[in-house]
Amino acid sequence: MKIVTIIGARPQFIKSAVISKLFLEQGIDEIVVHTGQHFDADMSDVFFEELRLPSPRYNLDIHGLSHGAMTGKMLEGIENVLIYEKPDGVLVYGDTNSTLAGALAARKLHIPVAHVEAGLRSFNMLMPEEINRILTDRISNLLFCPSELSKDNLRKEGIMASKDYKIVISGDIMYDCALLFASYAKSPMLSIEFPYLLCTIHRAENTDDIEKLKCIINTLEEISKETVVILPLHPRTRAKLTACGCALDDSPIKFISPVGYLEMIWLIDHSELVITDSGGVQKEAYYFQKPCVTLRDETEWVELVEHGYNKLVGADKENIISAIHYFLATKLAWNNNLYGDGHAGEIIVQELIESWN
Ligand code: UDP
Repeated sequence: MKIVTIIGARPQFIKSAVISKLFLEQGIDEIVVHTGQHFDADMSDVFFEELRLPSPRYNLDIHGLSHGAMTGKMLEGIENVLIYEKPDGVLVYGDTNSTLAGALAARKLHIPVAHVEAGLRSFNMLMPEEINRILTDRISNLLFCPSELSKDNLRKEGIMASKDYKIVISGDIMYDCALLFASYAKSPMLSIEFPYLLCTIHRAENTDDIEKLKCIINTLEEISKETVVILPLHPRTRAKLTACGCALDDSPIKFISPVGYLEMIWLIDHSELVITDSGGVQKEAYYFQKPCVTLRDETEWVELVEHGYNKLVGADKENIISAIHYFLATKLAWNNNLYGDGHAGEIIVQELIESWN
């Protein structure tokens, strides 16, 4: 069996690690296409090295363009690969432009598509990720949902199991990743003061609105007077902060370069709590039993909010500070079964073999 995997952004490299390992064990011929969306050493290469990902057979080297141009170029590049390779199916992850381009190119060539992380919704159509998710789910044949709720979302949109669609609740592949790599977690080469809070910011809704971004940074600077805040800086956020004249070196926030996954899970595991607008980091906080303050107005991972592990605070100073104080003063009772049992990878690969072999 031959499967083409489309990846291009940091979270996709991480999610693919578990499945690529299982493909290798099962003797499945996996052809990895890297679209090039993330390309710097610390946003791409480090994951291939640390997580021992198979080297991409194709690197389309597409980045730094507008959404339309990027997706269009990817569509063309992926189509060429698929026409040449003639795989039994195409596997896409998450919600990036690479996800949508991969699914669309395959489906138009009548090649079956599997989507890992199907059915997640923020119900905010201003997010490019939401558009990518909805369209990818609509044209995928195998939809792997992390939870019952994500399956319900598909049902409400009219995507039902049929000859063309199969919906499988696999659990969250990122839980598998956290379990697989937890024992390899390693401290980044930094002097770290404990206790600390760990923060990431990269969502367009925060970085593209400079007033919002400044408000978040000012709030974190205020919090830094009480507790150290470590912030591995996404290139997009760094560019925005630099452009608006923010003096990163003079800030009390400990800004560092993006770290590899093994360092990131170490940083989460040793933190007091996590402050983020990332989808993946919200769940990793939960997997490592850390409360999460989410710098957004909504989340796709609503179970975390409902269970009291996560608070949505937007970019509002008072809300951010009060959520941090609340979590620092509260002992939570952790239940670790919201997104499956850590065997999503096995379920996904077994289903692919049954469906496509
Ligand atoms: N991550 C990382 N290094 C960092 C920041 C994040 O390895 O400096 C990992 C993080 O642990 C998670 C993934 O990147 O597994 C999340 O990616 P990101 O926040 O870019 O995207 P999202 O999950 O929001 O789509």
